[in-house]
Amino acid sequence: MESGGNSLPSGRDGVKRKVSYFYDPEVGNYYYGQGHPMKPHRIRMTHALLAHYGLLQHMQVLKPTPAKDRDLCKFHADDYVSFLRAITPETQQDQLRQLKRFNVGEDCPVFDGLYSFCQTYAGGSVAGAVKLNQGGSDIAINWSGGLHHAKKCEASGFCYVNDIVLAILELLKVHERVLYVDIDIHHGDGVEEAFYTTDRVMTVSFHKFGDYFPGTGDIRDIGYGKGKYYSLNVPLDDGIDDESYQSLFRPIIGKVMEVFRPGAVVLQCGADSLSGDRLGCFNLSIKGHADCVRFMRSFNVPLLLLGGGGYTIRNVARCWCYETGVALGMELDDKMPQHEYYEYFGPEYNLHVAPSNMENKNSRHLLEEIRAKLLDYLSTLQHAPSVQFQERPPDTELPDVDEDQDDGDKRWDPDSDMESDDDCKPLPSQVKREHIEPGRTDSATNMMAIDEPRIKVEQNNSNKPSDQHAETNS
Ligand SMILES: [Zn+2]
Repeated sequence: MESGGNSLPSGRDGVKRKVSYFYDPEVGNYYYGQGHPMKPHRIRMTHALLAHYGLLQHMQVLKPTPAKDRDLCKFHADDYVSFLRAITPETQQDQLRQLKRFNVGEDCPVFDGLYSFCQTYAGGSVAGAVKLNQGGSDIAINWSGGLHHAKKCEASGFCYVNDIVLAILELLKVHERVLYVDIDIHHGDGVEEAFYTTDRVMTVSFHKFGDYFPGTGDIRDIGYGKGKYYSLNVPLDDGIDDESYQSLFRPIIGKVMEVFRPGAVVLQCGADSLSGDRLGCFNLSIKGHADCVRFMRSFNVPLLLLGGGGYTIRNVARCWCYETGVALGMELDDKMPQHEYYEYFGPEYNLHVAPSNMENKNSRHLLEEIRAKLLDYLSTLQHAPSVQFQERPPDTELPDVDEDQDDGDKRWDPDSDMESDDDCKPLPSQVKREHIEPGRTDSATNMMAIDEPRIKVEQNNSNKPSDQHAETNS
């Protein structure tokens, strides 16, 4: 495999990783509507490429169990989830107030099967997190996930439920600290907002900033309260190329890994940062994009790879196929194998496409300023007394579980200290925060509360087999 020159001393990049890949054959059938740039069909195209490149036999291929209402309600408001479950293209005309309230209708249209689409992509990301938590694989992949704009009570930017937040909440059951890295061209606002006040999740987003959706992600936005310096934003301009991108990605992420020392990493691999994207304006090659995956992988920390944006769908499929190869440690032939979507890839029928000659508006000077600023934030964190991390406690030892057994409604309940029933409940608007120390080992009942509009996360180190079930069947 090509080294890419980014192996780290801390990594053992030549070592094979055990990879789990989550895919639902139905996902390509969901359709946002005529002219809408978001096309779930790209996930099916990616899968076809994986199959014909012979990658599927090198990883565990799993069909995720759809996320249940109560799973979605671990982050989302129950009235929003109920709305998503009930709304149909036929009934939406009678629900205009609700549509407006939940920002559904334009960028985020109502389409046939909308709710099962949400259940499918969220189910894959949560199942990936469970798989990593169980030690069943080193890398878990869900290309249908990564919908980073969804908010607690609101759809946004083609995203309805935030599978990333749900997956991170799952990882936090086992890991004291989780790192989220976002290389979509758009700011990862929904994930940042969810964890803005906690020091247990660090979010790092690289994105186009300035007169661009969603408008957030200023370099000065760094988190709040206990979460100060645990949200990082890397604002970029049009035309950024591989070299410029890596001149920020590697030093920043290298420092983050050193200082934050996450127990697990979630990498959102939005492919709208590729050159030639229908909505994007960056100039990354597939190799340049995949270098982020390669670099992240080199740390040998449990890694969840998710999809995200990506609107020139032939390039999205190319990119996520190549990145699956990177995860597996396999280099792929540039000559594409024949397959059912072969005609999308003409006239060259190659895996890689050349970046364009567009101007790179990111000057060396500006890049250096951004890099220095972020490394400065990170050194503040490094020297803060509150982050003299102890070694993280060992992961929960899990009893053997039967993957075929449905865990029904016995999943971990974030509101277990409250009355419980099977329906999801609204989170209290203000939850009293109980103190939690990073590195504490007796944290079975520790709870951390995050003020509205954010969320409550809880660590659960207790040995509850039903909580840890793989929500998968193959
Ligand atoms: Zn995007």
